[in-house]
Amino acid sequence: MILVSGDVERHIRAEGEKWYPDECCGFLLGQIDESGRRRVEDILPVPNAGQAEERHHRFRIEPDDFMRAERQARLRGLDVIGFYHSHPDHPATPSEYDREQALPFYSYVILSVRRGASAEISSWELSGDRALFNHEELECAAQHRARKRRY
Ligand SMILES: [Zn+2]
Repeated sequence: MILVSGDVERHIRAEGEKWYPDECCGFLLGQIDESGRRRVEDILPVPNAGQAEERHHRFRIEPDDFMRAERQARLRGLDVIGFYHSHPDHPATPSEYDREQALPFYSYVILSVRRGASAEISSWELSGDRALFNHEELECAAQHRARKRRY
């Protein structure tokens, strides 16, 4: 399970809309507790390093940006626990390309952006054999509060 605060969710949505019709991308900085629950504390946006004509349906992150993100996370007592990217005018489900590029362990948060407006958001984890992406339960703090109010 991955927990995303309201601020982090808003930030991801803003990035997706800002870069539309290209895919936005960046890192999820956070912590993993003893039970394996992941909490995203912040995001670190980075430029989509893909070819200009590919950026509307693919994202690429430079190895240098990865190293910088890990350093920044460590300085703040956090870890890089995953990546986020957007799917302009496509559902928030991983593409075949996403699966081929993905690494085990990390969470992959995908935001759908439709006609420039952010839509559904989901999270995915690569299976151990890298054959498929499994849906990871994503909980947004805003939803959390709403549920608490109801009971
Ligand atoms: Zn994708």
